[in-house]
Amino acid sequence: MKAITQSMLGMFLRCPQQFERRYLRGETIPPGIAARRGSATHKAAQINHEQKLHTKEDLPVGDLQDAARDHYVKQVKEEGVFIPKDRISEKEQLLTAGLEAAVRLTKLYRESLAPAIQPTLVEEQLSLDVGLDLPLQGTIDVLTEAHWLPDLKTADKSKSSGEADHSLQLTFYAGLVAHHTGKWPEKISLEILVNNKEPKLQSLPTTRGPEDWANLILRVHLLLAQIRAGLFPPCDPGSWVCSPSWCGYFWTCKYSLKWR
Ligand code: SF4
Repeated sequence: MKAITQSMLGMFLRCPQQFERRYLRGETIPPGIAARRGSATHKAAQINHEQKLHTKEDLPVGDLQDAARDHYVKQVKEEGVFIPKDRISEKEQLLTAGLEAAVRLTKLYRESLAPAIQPTLVEEQLSLDVGLDLPLQGTIDVLTEAHWLPDLKTADKSKSSGEADHSLQLTFYAGLVAHHTGKWPEKISLEILVNNKEPKLQSLPTTRGPEDWANLILRVHLLLAQIRAGLFPPCDPGSWVCSPSWCGYFWTCKYSLKWR
């Protein structure tokens, strides 16, 4: 491990046992269809933002949908996808539904969100030494000229407003931006492309500041201390993550309740 990323911290907080298998033992499991859908939509947005830095114009919706489609197909083919054992028989329908959703949500991004974003930083990798064993590192999707840090997500249902207020991911990225640019983002938000029958954009604005950052650093201290101690407890078996649908290690994890 050369740095602590937001994904590492997030997985450690969800389940330290899962963190150990993924990041210390190197047992990589491909992401599920929802993550592949999100990554395809994200790729289309990235392509749009990269060129918009210079042109100040959004690309046509069809070009972005093609980019999302190509990325989804390539990722599934080259890197695979995690499908829970009990849904293997539906694999083809699930993959097709994921692809259709990625294309539909990319259209929503282009029409509802893209016109409001004029990027100043796109896919910027930031690293920050916080005086611990490892630096913090993350790639900022996009920061706008108005110093707005929007975080694009896809989801099957709308989220509660607490989702943005409590997101450590937003704290992580907002803190990296604050240290890189010298000021906290003026606006921070989750921009959720909701895959309803009638897809809709849900914007959840929030704020971050030094107190949030100090709280996050406390958690990073704990992560590093546990790595040093070699202690990786399992999460609560009642947690949503501890199920065959959400944890790729479920069937080989000595702590999971496989008989339930
Ligand atoms: S099965 Fe449960 S305890 Fe085991 S790694 Fe997955 S989430 Fe953690």
